[in-house]
Amino acid sequence: MEIVYLDGAFLPADQAKVSVFDRGFLFGDSVYEVIPFYQGVGFRLEEHLARLAHSLDALQIPHSDNLDEALNKLVAQNGGGNVSVYVQITRGNAGKRSHAVTADITPTVFACCQPIAPIYETGPEVIEGARVIVTDDLRWQRCDIKANGLLANILAMRQAHEAGAAEALLQKEGWINEGSSSNVFIVEQGHVITPPLHKGILSGTTRALVLELAQQHGVQVTESNISYERLIGADEVWITSSTRGVLPVTAVDEHLIAGGQKGPLWLQMFKLFTRYQQGLMTGESL
Ligand code: PLP
Repeated sequence: MEIVYLDGAFLPADQAKVSVFDRGFLFGDSVYEVIPFYQGVGFRLEEHLARLAHSLDALQIPHSDNLDEALNKLVAQNGGGNVSVYVQITRGNAGKRSHAVTADITPTVFACCQPIAPIYETGPEVIEGARVIVTDDLRWQRCDIKANGLLANILAMRQAHEAGAAEALLQKEGWINEGSSSNVFIVEQGHVITPPLHKGILSGTTRALVLELAQQHGVQVTESNISYERLIGADEVWITSSTRGVLPVTAVDEHLIAGGQKGPLWLQMFKLFTRYQQGLMTGESL
């Protein structure tokens, strides 16, 4: 039986209950994280918890104590292994529906696990190039907060699925911001480019790691705005996320990228990324 975490308790999933007056349920007044654990060990856990703290601070929701300990325990109680941990913190149960926020309510903290395939055990030849679409970015102006109000992301992803694509890249005011659940990179003449951080995009933990790895290994990287024309004319396009790693994009709308092939810089980054993951698992520093 799957064990979940709810407000300090570890219990079977079917016994975990949240009030109908919880503000997460009524208003989407909540934030979340999705954190991969490989062989029971959190991958970039500190970075995920720092981003969670940023989201909580932005909404003035109090932090929970010892969350890392609780998540490690949750994963262990579910048998360790390779899982993605979903954590959601709502502002809590106010006992009634009212837009106004009262300071004295206790946040609801929920976490559960879902099995994932470890990216670092996958050979690059097995990774298939993804097709993506570009659609309007209908989201609000604080996408730096990992908030649960994901309607615009869900509509965009639905549009992508209807078009047989794996992701929807979101465009606002002429710029490609990011995907519905990923960050975006392009390659131009050996140069890696990703949009700069601003309130319109999420500070992806995988994005940050790709930038770190590129800098460490002499790959030129720049944070710069990306237009649609630049995207479809790029030598390579990648999307990144915690559960997908670094994924090559081989078609954007009806345009093939790099003739529909996975690019050489993607291959280099994929190898650096999976080596970094393996290093963490075996405790070897790279
Ligand atoms: N951008 C959005 C909108 C996301 O929802 C996500 C992840 O879910 C990302 C980017 C990638 O973030 P990370 O690499 O931390 O998973």
